[in-house]
Amino acid sequence: MEDLDHGVNVAVIGAGWAGMAAAVTLAQTGTRVTVFEAARHLGGRARTVELEGIDLDNGQHILIGAYVETLRLMRAVGADPKQLLLRQQLAIEYPGAFRLRAPRLPAPLHLLAALMTANGLAWTERIAAMRFMTAMRGNNYRIAADMPVAELLAQHRQGGALARYLWEPLCVSALNTPAAAASAQTFLNVVRDGLDGPRANSDFLIPRTDLGRLFPLPAADFVRDHGGSIRLGTPVRALTESADGFVLDTGPERYSHVILAVAPHQLDVLLDCFPALAAVRQSIVAFAYEPIYTCYLQYPPSVTMPQPMTGFDGGSIQWIFDRGRINGTAGLLAAVISARGAHQDFSQDALAEAIHRELVAFLPDIPSPLWSRVIAEKRATFSCRPGIARPSNRTPVDRLYLAGDYTASDYPATLESAVRSGVRAAGLVRLR
Ligand SMILES: Cc1cc2nc3c(=O)[nH]c(=O)nc-3n(C[C@H](O)[C@H](O)[C@H](O)COP(=O)(O)OP(=O)(O)OC[C@H]3O[C@@H](n4cnc5c(N)ncnc54)[C@H](O)[C@@H]3O)c2cc1C
Repeated sequence: MEDLDHGVNVAVIGAGWAGMAAAVTLAQTGTRVTVFEAARHLGGRARTVELEGIDLDNGQHILIGAYVETLRLMRAVGADPKQLLLRQQLAIEYPGAFRLRAPRLPAPLHLLAALMTANGLAWTERIAAMRFMTAMRGNNYRIAADMPVAELLAQHRQGGALARYLWEPLCVSALNTPAAAASAQTFLNVVRDGLDGPRANSDFLIPRTDLGRLFPLPAADFVRDHGGSIRLGTPVRALTESADGFVLDTGPERYSHVILAVAPHQLDVLLDCFPALAAVRQSIVAFAYEPIYTCYLQYPPSVTMPQPMTGFDGGSIQWIFDRGRINGTAGLLAAVISARGAHQDFSQDALAEAIHRELVAFLPDIPSPLWSRVIAEKRATFSCRPGIARPSNRTPVDRLYLAGDYTASDYPATLESAVRSGVRAAGLVRLR
């Protein structure tokens, strides 16, 4: 309880994964913290939604073993990753076209073996992939000047099946930005930690439970148990600074520090309160955003896919997650479409119908779905392009910090970058 007697009293605005990571980190050291959340639920862009009486997610998410901070904080709040996440060795499968599986060998041998034994790659492509990884490793995964991923791949002869089934899907899944536009440096940071770190880093961790139970809900319980409070349905629309702290438009309380943990497109109104933050505002105005669509299709319980997660190519779908295999919700499939594309022109019913037709091509006997629902998150993440200027956690206003997946980081907009950002912002409060 070291901070309670020193007048430190922190307001965290936003209860997404970044805000909750900040709140938990502060609560762990006994710092007084109040979380303000505009919505009536926790989790922000990674939250539970109820559809047809089932707790599902606003979008199918996947974590990887390299999400060390997320896994650490989950454990800290009593959410056991072993129970709540289905851990799968790196495996990418496009049925009939491509199959890559990493055996249980130490890194980087697991990757070497995976590339050498992949189905659907010519020998020349396997060797090109090894050369690429060796070259990137030799430069510590740094490039002199950032460029689009597609350009980097072309420079290193990573075309054909390698680009189509390995690098481009990895890029879109991790950066939510097409390879033609995505930042090669950020992509390489993910490749470095995901593919060339300890072997377990490359494991896929697929949530067995809804996103709320994975972290935001146990995090809120943890914060309350440590003397903090969470105020749902409480948007903060203005804050003012005085010599002895900040006052929010939600009430008369004073806060010694404020962490703004809202999404970048939600920051405007709060930044307007501080002329000194004009440069932060400018960098965020320059952001573009990418959507992620998730279509849930409930089929009869007998319908199943060969893998928990299967790659699709050539149509709208990028990945199908079989929730029956993942957590026993038999017959429920989640189709994921990351980044911008032609699917955005479809009505939700037409998109669900198109996705069902793509599934029929793969499983000819599949019956019509009992129900289907598309959740379109139009600003799922910022578009992770070369040279994008991401603001740091520290701002020019003393004791006011930013947290969120968009702040300066090695990583693209992910749960891990949100959590790391929240932990960093909390660390800045405690450093003072
Ligand atoms: C469909 C989808 C699929 C994704 N898939 C993956 C994946 O597979 N793996 C992965 O790692 N990442 C994935 N992501 C990205 C990941 O979800 C985000 O990076 C992360 O959730 C961002 O968290 P955040 O806390 O930074 O922001 P947010 O989640 O946006 O949190 C901001 C919070 O602030 C609140 N707020 C806003 N304004 C105010 C205000 N004025 N007052 C009070 N509260 C306010 C909002 O309501 C929100 O709850 C996906 C995202 C989406 C949308």
